[in-house]
Amino acid sequence: MKDLRTQVAIVGAGPAGLLLGHLLRQHGVDNVIVERRSREYVEQRVRAGVIEFGIANFLEEVGVGQRLRREGLTHHGVELRFDHQTHRVALSDLTEGKTITVYGQQELVKDLIALRLGDGGEILFDVEVSELDGLSGPQAVVRGKGLEDEVRIECDYVAGCDGSFGVATRSVPASALRRHERTYPFSWLGILAQAAPTTEELIYARHERGFALYSMRSPSVSRLYLGVPPTDTLEMWSDDRIWEELNVRLTTEESPKVNEGPIMERSITAMRSVVIEPMRCGRLLLAGDASHIVPPTGAKGMNLALGDIRVLASALVAQLLEGDERLLDAYSATCLERVWRAEEFSNYMTQMLHPSDDDFENGVQRARLRQAVTTREAATVLARNYCDLNGL
Ligand SMILES: Cc1cc2nc3c(=O)[nH]c(=O)nc-3n(C[C@H](O)[C@H](O)[C@H](O)COP(=O)(O)OP(=O)(O)OC[C@H]3O[C@@H](n4cnc5c(N)ncnc54)[C@H](O)[C@@H]3O)c2cc1C
Repeated sequence: MKDLRTQVAIVGAGPAGLLLGHLLRQHGVDNVIVERRSREYVEQRVRAGVIEFGIANFLEEVGVGQRLRREGLTHHGVELRFDHQTHRVALSDLTEGKTITVYGQQELVKDLIALRLGDGGEILFDVEVSELDGLSGPQAVVRGKGLEDEVRIECDYVAGCDGSFGVATRSVPASALRRHERTYPFSWLGILAQAAPTTEELIYARHERGFALYSMRSPSVSRLYLGVPPTDTLEMWSDDRIWEELNVRLTTEESPKVNEGPIMERSITAMRSVVIEPMRCGRLLLAGDASHIVPPTGAKGMNLALGDIRVLASALVAQLLEGDERLLDAYSATCLERVWRAEEFSNYMTQMLHPSDDDFENGVQRARLRQAVTTREAATVLARNYCDLNGL
């Protein structure tokens, strides 16, 4: 049995848990990070890739932005394709110079792990947390099981950064949390391909056969998505079928065909919106996907998670170093206001870009798209939310 004592036990070494650990260490707050997967697994897990303007600046301010600035791709606009035509939303022009940075989530995770381990910190990999106790008492206790040892951590606070359906929300009586949820009638088939990007900016396409997204991770790696029925499985999608469908949905008469290459990774993800509130239950603080999920259409999931941590780290530092509990008391309300804005934006993008079986709905979607590319006001709202929702 490994018996530990710390100020903050952090469950989960995703972007949220790792950034929290880093910020607390910077302020001298002792913390332990527990992760059920191996280091290799979390460093290879391909997910998000768009980092907002304010979040990228924040990462740089707190010493995590060096490689992101060097290797990340800065974008000044995105393309919307519908009715076989391309329209550019000039993000920077509409937001007084703001940009987005394309940088893989797994790269940020690698940077955060290297920083922590490089200056003598530790992460308990391969330890699955099974139980949280004492959340309304004077001390909380986290229990888990590693490859060899049982682990028990006594702490002042637990940060539930363990993603959706995690042990953190399961440890609280159901009556203490409200869960708001929407499931969309489509999933995303995502691939990571060894192929140079065909274009310089992301392309969001609404085609009558379905949604498609063109994005990239580096000058030689592309990340592409297709909207597919929720019942589809990977076996139904051969490489040839994936490329053919991407080309149908993404190319117009004027645009070049999509560059193809070996597919290195593929997955199908259900589209959901979830908000669990409040984000604090006694000594448990929820952050990131543990407390909210957005469909990836607005590129908000990782940004929201990092935005929560910016608020949570300051609140924990104020409480643990100065005994000032006000920020911690306000944590849930402060975050939820931004979380619901992100839910609204992600829902707007999702509903607008995925064709429906309902003709009336299709008419509304196309009207919204036309409005987004022909009126400066609508384009500005889209650009501000896309570039910097967490910094607004
Ligand atoms: C296909 C896909 C594409 C996406 N694209 C984007 C995008 O473009 N932009 C964007 O902003 N977001 C995107 N997202 C969302 C983004 O990846 C998540 O919002 C982000 O990972 C949230 O970070 P997190 O740290 O809260 O949770 P996670 O990254 O899920 O981390 C949680 C961690 O907790 C660990 N854990 C879970 N249970 C336990 C336990 N019992 N004990 C110990 N450890 C545990 C998990 O192994 C994991 O490492 C995408 C997601 C997917 C799936």
